[in-house]
Parts: sequence; C-alpha cells; structure tokens
Amino acid sequence: MSKLTGARYHITGIVQGVGFRPFVYSLASQLELHGWVKNTSAGVEIEVEGSSKSIQEFTTRLQGEAPPLAIIDDFRVETHQPNDYTQFTIVKSEAIPQAFQPISPDVSVCDDCLQELFDPADRRYLYPFTNCTNCGPRFTIIKDIPYDRPFTTMSEFDLCPECLVEYTDPLDRRFHAQPVACPECGPHVWLEFSPSYQNVKEQTISAGKLPLLKGTDAFVTTQQLLQEGIILAIKGLGGFHIACDATNPAAVERLRERKLRVDKPFAVMMPNLDTVRKHCYLGEAEAEVLISRERPILILPRRPESSIAEEIAPNQNTIGVMLPYTPLHYLLFNVWNSPGTRTLDNLLPLVFVMTSGNMSEEPIVTDNSEAIQRLDPLVDAYLMHNRPIHVRSDDSVTRNYGSGPNRKESKDNHSVKVTLIRRSRGYAPTPLNIPWDGIPMLATGAELKNTFCLTRDKYAFLSHHIGDMENYETLLSFEEGISHYERLFKIIPEALAYDLHPNYLATRYALKRADQDGIPAYGIQHHHAHIASCMAENGLPASQPVIGVSFDGTGYGEDGAIWGGEFLIADYATCTRFAHLAYAPLPGGDIAIRKPARIALAYLWEAGLDWETDIAPVLFLSNQELLALKSQLEKNVNTPKTSSTGRLFDAVASLIDVRQEINYEAQAAIELEALVDPNEEKAYTFEYNLSNGEPTNEFPPQSNVGPVKIEHKPLFSEIITDLHDGVETGKISARFHNGLALVVKDICIAMRNSSSINQVVLSGGVWQNLVLLQQTTKLLDETGFEVLCHAAVPPNDGGLALGQVAIATHRIKNDQ
Ligand SMILES: [Zn+2]
Ligand SMILES: [Zn+2]
Ligand SMILES: [Zn+2]
Repeated sequence: MSKLTGARYHITGIVQGVGFRPFVYSLASQLELHGWVKNTSAGVEIEVEGSSKSIQEFTTRLQGEAPPLAIIDDFRVETHQPNDYTQFTIVKSEAIPQAFQPISPDVSVCDDCLQELFDPADRRYLYPFTNCTNCGPRFTIIKDIPYDRPFTTMSEFDLCPECLVEYTDPLDRRFHAQPVACPECGPHVWLEFSPSYQNVKEQTISAGKLPLLKGTDAFVTTQQLLQEGIILAIKGLGGFHIACDATNPAAVERLRERKLRVDKPFAVMMPNLDTVRKHCYLGEAEAEVLISRERPILILPRRPESSIAEEIAPNQNTIGVMLPYTPLHYLLFNVWNSPGTRTLDNLLPLVFVMTSGNMSEEPIVTDNSEAIQRLDPLVDAYLMHNRPIHVRSDDSVTRNYGSGPNRKESKDNHSVKVTLIRRSRGYAPTPLNIPWDGIPMLATGAELKNTFCLTRDKYAFLSHHIGDMENYETLLSFEEGISHYERLFKIIPEALAYDLHPNYLATRYALKRADQDGIPAYGIQHHHAHIASCMAENGLPASQPVIGVSFDGTGYGEDGAIWGGEFLIADYATCTRFAHLAYAPLPGGDIAIRKPARIALAYLWEAGLDWETDIAPVLFLSNQELLALKSQLEKNVNTPKTSSTGRLFDAVASLIDVRQEINYEAQAAIELEALVDPNEEKAYTFEYNLSNGEPTNEFPPQSNVGPVKIEHKPLFSEIITDLHDGVETGKISARFHNGLALVVKDICIAMRNSSSINQVVLSGGVWQNLVLLQQTTKLLDETGFEVLCHAAVPPNDGGLALGQVAIATHRIKNDQ
C-alpha cells in the first residue's frame, strides 16, 4: 500500500439539508478513505486519509458530483497529518457562534419520490407529503437555525420506527431529510366545506352537515368538485391556492366576481408537458423551465384552439402555466376512479386555475383557521392539511426573453433566456453572489411588488415576494420577513437603504428604524437603483460606468417629478441624467394612472394637439369630466409631471381604444403589446430637444447642456393621422414599439459618443415587454453595444432592493 496521506476540506454554500454528508460518506467509502464529515454552522468540514491517488479523486468528485441541490460557494482543501482513523464516520454537528450559511429554497418533488407516490407496493403510495433530501419543503417550514427538525414546523410530528431508520441511515435517500414523513407518522389531508356552502347544500342533503372527508376520499371529492365547477381553497407549499376548472367559463367568471378581480390573469396548473402542448406553444427550452426543480409559472403563447376559458386572461394571447410541484398537486390529476390505471404517465389532462389564496392584494393565506376566516367569501370547500407553513411563499413567475406571442414555437433555443418577473418560491432565499464585499445592510425596496434585501460578505439575500405595500397585512408580512431573514442569516444591519419616495411604507419603515437603531440611512433614486440592480446581477465591477436605460411606470425623481423614461450614465455610487422622455402632466395623479383616457388627453394637451371629438378618449369621458380635466390642466392643480414610459404606453393604448380604464397595474401596456403586428416595420418619430436649443430630429446631439428631452409631439400627431386613415391597431401598436426602440438606439449612440461607454444596461418594469426588449436589443446589438439585461432578478420593482444596497454600500465605501 502506498504511503498514507491526509486532507482537510472546508466547504461553504448550500451544503446542508441537501444530502451532502451522505454523499461524502458514500464517496469516501467507495474510495476506501477513512476520516469523518460534519456540519458546522458555517458549512461542512471533512477530514480524510488514504492513498494520495484516492484523495485526489475524492477532491475532484466532491466538487463534480455533489448532490443536485447543493451549491458550493467556497471550497478549500489543505493537506493534513494522518490520524490513523480506522473507518469513515459522520460526526456530531458543531455550532460556531456568528457563523451562518445559506438555506435551500423549497424544491419540487423529485423523480424518485414521484415513483414511490405511484407505486402500489410502496409504503408511501399516494401519500401527499412524500419527500427526501433531494426534494420537498425547506424555507417555508424553517423557524430557526440550525436546520434541524426541532426548528421546523415538522417538530410536532414524531418519526415512526420505519421513518427513523431512513432518517438515521447515512446511505438512505432520507438521511437527515428534516421534513421526512409517511402515512403513519406525518401530516395528512382532509376536505371540509365552507359554512356558506353548507347552508346551500343542506337543503338538498338529508344528512344535514356535510362530512369531513379524509385521505383518498378527500382527493376523489376534490377532483369531482373541481370538475363540477366548484371553487376550492387548496393548501400547498407556501400558502393556499384558490382553484377551479380553467376550462369552465362560468366557474372562472364566478371566481373573478368573488375575488373582485376583473381582468388580471389567473395562473393555471396542468399535469404534464403533453397537456401544456395542447394549450400553448412550447419550445424545448420553455419545457425545461417548466420541469425545472424551481417549477415557476411560465408565461406562454396560447394556441387559438385551446379549450381554456378566455376569462383566464382577458385580452391577452398568453397564459401563465405551471406544472405540479408537490405530491399533493400530482394527486389532483390522479385517476382516482380506476385504480388499475393509476400511473404517473396516465394523469388526467385537466387544467386548474391556481391563483394565490388571498382577497385582492392582501398576502397569501398560510394558516388553516385564517383560511376559513378570510377565504370563506371566495370558496365553497377547503382541501386542508396539517403541516404548518412558517414563511409564506408565492409562486414565482417567469417569462422567456426569446419566446413570446410573436415567436410561436421557439426553435432557436439558444436565444431563449428566462427572465424572472416574480422571484419567490423555488428561488428565494438562495443568495445572489455580489461583486463587492457586502457590509451588513438592509434595503427596504419599493411600494409595489416589494422585496427587501439584506447583504453580508459576498451574499445578497433578496427576499421572497412580499407584495404591494398598500395594506396593514402586507406591512406586517414585510416586517416579519425582515426579522426572520436577519435571524436566519445572522445579519444586524449597520446601514439602511430606501427609496426617495417619502410616502412609501418601506421608506417610512427605514427612516423609523434608522432612528431607533441609530444607524445611517441612504435615500436612493429609484431608477439609479434599477440600473445598479441589473449591474449587480451581471457582476459588474465598481469602477465601470454604464449607459443605463431605465424604463418603468413610477419612480420618485430628484426634482420631485415622477420619472420613468430615463437614460443615465451610472456606476454603483453615482448617476447623471443624460436624457429622459419629455415631461407630461398627470392630472389627478393616481386617478390618471387608473384611467388611461385622462393620460392620453393630457399628453395631447401638452403637445398642443386638439382633442378632436371623434378620438377614443374623448368619446369615453363624459362632457363634465372633459371640462374638469381641461380646467385642471390649465390651472395646473394636483397635476404632477411625469417622464414615465409606462404612462406613454397608457396614452397610446387609450388613443387606439385598447383600454380607457385599468383594473390592474400595467394592464393597458400589456394589452397594447399583445396587439403588435410582428410584420409591421414602420416606426413613429420622436423629436430631441436640447435643454437650451431647438427641437431636432438630427442626432446625435452633443449633450453637455443638461438632459436631452425626448418629445412625443410627432408621435401623437402621426398616431392621429393613422387613426384618420383607418390604419389597423396592430400596426399602430407595432409602429409605437418600433419607434421607442429606435429612440433607445439613438440616445445610446449619443451617450457612447460623449462618454465612450459601450455597455448598455436595461432595467425597469417596461422591459418585461418582450416586443420592446427584443427590438431594442436587436438594434443595440447591430450597433455594436454590449447589452446587459435581467435574468435572475426581476427587471421590475421586485429587483429594486438589490440596486439600493449596491448604491448605498458604494457611497459608504467612497466616503471612507
Ligand atoms: Zn425526493
Ligand atoms: Zn413514518
Ligand atoms: Zn421601478
């Protein structure tokens, strides 16, 4: 035997609760190495000894063959004196004060567990809470660290002898899988009817009270009820869903009425890719997103022949689709009535609405008694279970950059890139690696689609989706979320970052907390934060300024106006406004945002164009409202100024009568995008106006005289001419998108000429518009720019907090 040598390994990252120690154990045994492995609060430590050849192989395979859920951030190995161990063992975990480590997000059910779920011989046959070290709940059940069963919501379930054997055997797939359970010892499901539904049914059911149904009976009846058009609450992984048959227009309509949700699309769940292909255009890359272990909702172009009710997503040509991600979800599609044909390959091709279990914009409901209180007006029955949810987690939403309504089947898979629109279940709290040394800091994010962000070391913990901070419940969820993350990742903020908008609840929280904790707080301009967020996601270094194009709906500007069509020269610490969409009045502020008709007329008024009596917004508003609007504009009362790109979309959507009133955010812009005729190549014109000069179409101007204004007067006169000429709305919408993409190209060229910067960063909610994104990136690519977009972090306000920490950190570093 060759000479005995030894090695010691220190590994950090997501390496606990993911089957890492069993993997190390079996690898060491296979290579006949002796020594030990242990968890510490910082990661995993290993000591091995044996032949140097085996140790070499061990080092390589440790990194190359790590379990699927493991993410290794740091891998250090040093030679070590052999200690003459006689075997390889898993030794007791060690607590290191102040050390911390990332926590795995919840993971969709793995193939092995699915096999067991549909195997009549398995003891977990049809058991809805089957999981193992490679799958199942994580973040949503963790109450505290270290990640051990007593600190999870599984603590109330004692392991039965058979589960205990699996849990303690290092070679078992369930070794130290904290949520491990079986029908004997684990959580269970039941179906109960809502009190109001009871009243209706009692008249027809002689037995009076409807019975509580358990286990199989609960699933059989749930499936039946859904197919009959009944609306149910279904408790899942990170909260309740509200479900109904998506192919039943009456059921969907009833759900809309009850949920007070007029048009905002509902996501649907389908059992498998074959079913998805029947209803949507699906390329290979998109299919991979759907079956990924994160199992997000993916927005897909809908096939015209799909039997899914139009009411799912009114005025849209896309549908948000997800596949089942827990065993419980799979069982909703199981063939219950004929046991002989129950297999994974034979699921029923049903389509269910699966929308967040909440009343309008409140946080998603997670608790059983809370569900019965708050969801009763919405549902007729509840499929409940008794595994508590500690942290609520909404479904994540993705859109494919390379696909979209106009691409149909995406053949060229290389160009397909996922952009997260909502980063939550399956992704959070996986930290993002940041290109700077993080100081302990908290950024409180924005008002809508709020997420917060905490940093330390090389990590940014961008939170799960908190929601729109417009009610007390969401604020509470935000505050609870912050303290939970601070405890789990051992972060005591030494500074705070917040949005400049004085009325955001997140801003008020930051200012109050800065005062209480006696720490500095940094106000960060909204659009600078968007650009910094995209820079950070792309790992850009601190010293490198970029051209930032921040297009979105609303953000507080440094001059008090509402910005949103911004061209910035920015690095992490500083930012200069090179150009912006010209200001237009927003009569009535928020009232205008809800009524695009008002915005269209305000933009025409600003451009000095007539309100002709036959244009859509004039026809839509009453005479009284028109008079009031005119006087408001003339007197400039309660009329903030805005350079928002979102409002420009609203104005165009109203003029071509796509939408005069909205009932969810960005509705007019989304419907305008859906209309685009992909074959139209013409583009509307904009005019550029130097602060001290004459309007010009000549570009590039040399701008050293303050921001260039991008005037929309020519755009609106051309639209009105087209309307008179009877040009189709699909063409008008396309010409608008094309024109805006050309503006971005023009201004970026001017910015490159005056700064020599060639990198363009696109951020802000408007970049969720795939038509605009694809057009713009194509033009910029052709002009030789390097274009950076979002992928892992939402371009909308859900990614803002990451930019806030980036900017505040670099301001602090520059001051030092
Ligand atoms: Zn599994
Ligand atoms: Zn058990
Ligand atoms: Zn924004």
